[in-house]
Amino acid sequence: MTENTVKRTAEWKSEDHRHYLHPFTDHKDLGEKGGSRIITRADGVYIYDSEGNRILDGMAGLWCVNLGYGRTELVDAAAAQMRELPYYNSFFQCTHPPAIELSERLSELSPGNFNHVFFTGSGSEANDTQIRLIRRYWDLQGQPDRMTIIARKNAYHGSTLGGASLGGMSAMHEQMVLPVPGIVHIEQPYQFELGADLSAADFGLQQARLLEKKILEIGADKVAAFIGEPVQGAGGVIIPPDTYWPEIQRICDEYGILLVADEVITAFGRLGEWFGSTRFGMRPDLISFAKGVSSGYLPLGGALVGDRVAEVVIAEGGEFAHGYTYSGHPAACAVGLAVLKIMQREKIVERVREHTEPYFHARFKTLEDHPIVGEVRSIGLVGAIEIVKDKSSRERFHKDLGAGTRCRDFCVNNGLVMRAVGNTMIVSPPLVVEDKHIDELVEKAWKCLDLTAASLARE
Ligand SMILES: *Cc1c(COP(=O)(O)O)cnc(C)c1O
Repeated sequence: MTENTVKRTAEWKSEDHRHYLHPFTDHKDLGEKGGSRIITRADGVYIYDSEGNRILDGMAGLWCVNLGYGRTELVDAAAAQMRELPYYNSFFQCTHPPAIELSERLSELSPGNFNHVFFTGSGSEANDTQIRLIRRYWDLQGQPDRMTIIARKNAYHGSTLGGASLGGMSAMHEQMVLPVPGIVHIEQPYQFELGADLSAADFGLQQARLLEKKILEIGADKVAAFIGEPVQGAGGVIIPPDTYWPEIQRICDEYGILLVADEVITAFGRLGEWFGSTRFGMRPDLISFAKGVSSGYLPLGGALVGDRVAEVVIAEGGEFAHGYTYSGHPAACAVGLAVLKIMQREKIVERVREHTEPYFHARFKTLEDHPIVGEVRSIGLVGAIEIVKDKSSRERFHKDLGAGTRCRDFCVNNGLVMRAVGNTMIVSPPLVVEDKHIDELVEKAWKCLDLTAASLARE
């Protein structure tokens, strides 16, 4: 960080405010609150802002920088590929080595029934691709009326019209005429909010059976697929009870419905498995991925296509009229290959499963003793803290008090990125965090919960 960087801060803030439209941002409000924090560099598990503050990145960027910052091996892989072949498409009977090799590696790493990959530039595009594949599959099966895709309230599947339709974020639907036709939503398995009186096992079964109820309501011959994140991420790190996914699987099997696992967050080690669906005993027909596959260094995502769908749509279906200019971008695929190589060499998945997850789980859970915390939960390296006014009744602070965003702001000002979803605080640190970083995260979180409690008490 140079003196110049500090000096430029005011200018940058002003230019940012005047020209740069940020995702999911209230720009008027941001302007009134003094503008954005400007992140200028990063190293390991820390980011640095233009004023020289060092901040522990408890969100791995946006659930993606799993290998941490400053990995020159990934930079070199991109640079080498860009020198050799920066871009070429795979539309017109052409292909190139990085996309071939990455599709081969992903087929190897994914569950046994997966042997094909369709690349995209993002998770949203991956889910749009799934909608296309699902509808094409049933059409080719001679069942064009099997149109309806069932998803869940408060799910996040991206921000394109397809992704936002699959998602269950009402604020996104309200700003556009969404969902698109043929997508319906059932309630989520969020026990802290919806199932406090039931045992976890009973609540899991009850929420899964909402799928069966919806199928019967629509008519089984009209339902095409069910889509879900193994663990809901952006909705607030909602971890379903163990009984949930096996029951969903039973229902999908019974009615012949395709199961799509949106693994944009949960794949590539986040849950201590290459694919999080494995951990829950899911047997998906389609898997969406993005984020961790390139550790966020370049945009990359895709749809893994299981044999059931591939045998119909790819082998027998003629041309699949779908694709993106950047499907299988060579530099992004080269980075993806380098990420997988590092993960293998450093045994990242095994380390998360055997060491980091248990340590994180135990340390993070201690936050449950805090006076304004109603529940702490985690699985793999994602976790959530429920902020409440009253521990025993789980009564929340009034919405207008913005307890979550208050806590988030205290965190970032005290050197920790922790995100707020309403009054739920969530973390998803890089998979390479060491014990000392987890200690730092927990200590800072406690301190910022204290600051939040004190500031709420003053109102
Ligand atoms: C982030 C996310 C997406 C969307 O990915 P983008 O790359 O932002 O388009 C889709 N599904 C899940 C589960 C996600 O977390």
